[in-house]
Amino acid sequence: MERFTGQVVLVTGAGSGIGRELARSCAAEGAQLHLVDIDETVHEVAAGLGGVAHICDVGDPAAVRSLFERVESLDAAFLNAGINGVPSMLQDGGAVDELSFDAWRRVLSVNLDGLFSCLQESAHIMKRQQHGSIVVTASTAGLRPEPRVSYPYVVSKHAVVGLVKQAALELAGHGVRVNAIAPGPVVTNIGGTGPRPQAAVAAWEDSIPARRWGQPSDVTDLALLLAAPGSGWLTGGIHVVDGGASVLTQVLA
Ligand code: NAD
Repeated sequence: MERFTGQVVLVTGAGSGIGRELARSCAAEGAQLHLVDIDETVHEVAAGLGGVAHICDVGDPAAVRSLFERVESLDAAFLNAGINGVPSMLQDGGAVDELSFDAWRRVLSVNLDGLFSCLQESAHIMKRQQHGSIVVTASTAGLRPEPRVSYPYVVSKHAVVGLVKQAALELAGHGVRVNAIAPGPVVTNIGGTGPRPQAAVAAWEDSIPARRWGQPSDVTDLALLLAAPGSGWLTGGIHVVDGGASVLTQVLA
C-alpha cells in the first residue's frame, strides 16, 4: 500500500522514537519528507530515508517560522515533538510545591507552545491549499491525571487535546483535518533516562491489559491511517492506543 505517493509530509521529533518510525513508515508509502528535530540525529534519519532534514527548536517561534518558509506545500503534518524529563509527583522535586518554574516552562514551551507554532504554520499552508491533515501526538496523560508523569507533561498534553479539538472545529470548513493519537507508554528515549529500572517497567505493565509497553510501530499505524487521504471524514478525534490501559482505568473508576 502506498497511500502517500506524491504527498509532502512533515514530521516533528523525527530524530527518535515515534517520530522516527512515522518518518520510516511514510517513506515506505512514498511520501516526500520534511523531517524536523532539535537533535542532529535527524540528518542520519533523513539521509537513510531520502527526506530533507531541518534542525529546529519547535519551542522557538522564529525558528518555526523560518522552517516553514522552506515548506511550499504540505499534505500531512505529524506534529509529534515532545519532552518530559521532569520528575513526577512520586519522585524527589516533582511535587507541586517543589517543582521549579523553569522545569514547568521548559516542558510547556516544547509540548504546547511548540505544537501551537507548528500547527499555526501548517494550518496557514493547508488553508491556502484547502486541503491537508494534521496529526498530533498527544498522550493518555492528556486525558486523565497520571501520578507517574510530571505535572507540566500532564498539563501540556491536556492542553494539546483542547488545541486539537478547537483547531479541528475551525479548519474542517477549509478541508483541513486535525486529529490526535493518545499513546500509552511506548519504549522510546523520552525523558532521556536511558534504560528504565525493571521495577518501574513492571509497575507500568501491571496497568496495561496487553501486559507490555508499546513499540513505536504500535502507535504509528494509527497515525498514518488518520493522515491518509482516504480518511476524509475523520477529524477532531483523540484516538487512544494504549494496550487497553484506558479500559482498565474505567473499570477501576
Ligand atoms: P523521543 O524522545 O524518542 O523522541 C522525541 C523527539 O523529539 C526527539 O528526537 C527529540 O530530539 C525531539 N525534540 C525534543 N524537543 C524538541 C524541540 N524543542 N524541537 C524539536 N524537536 C524536539 O520520545 P517519543 O516518545 O518518541 O516522543 C514523541 C511524542 O510522543 C512526544 O510528543 C511524547 O510526548 C509522545 N508520547 C510518548 C509516549 C511514550 O511513552 N514514549 C507516550 C505518549 C505520548
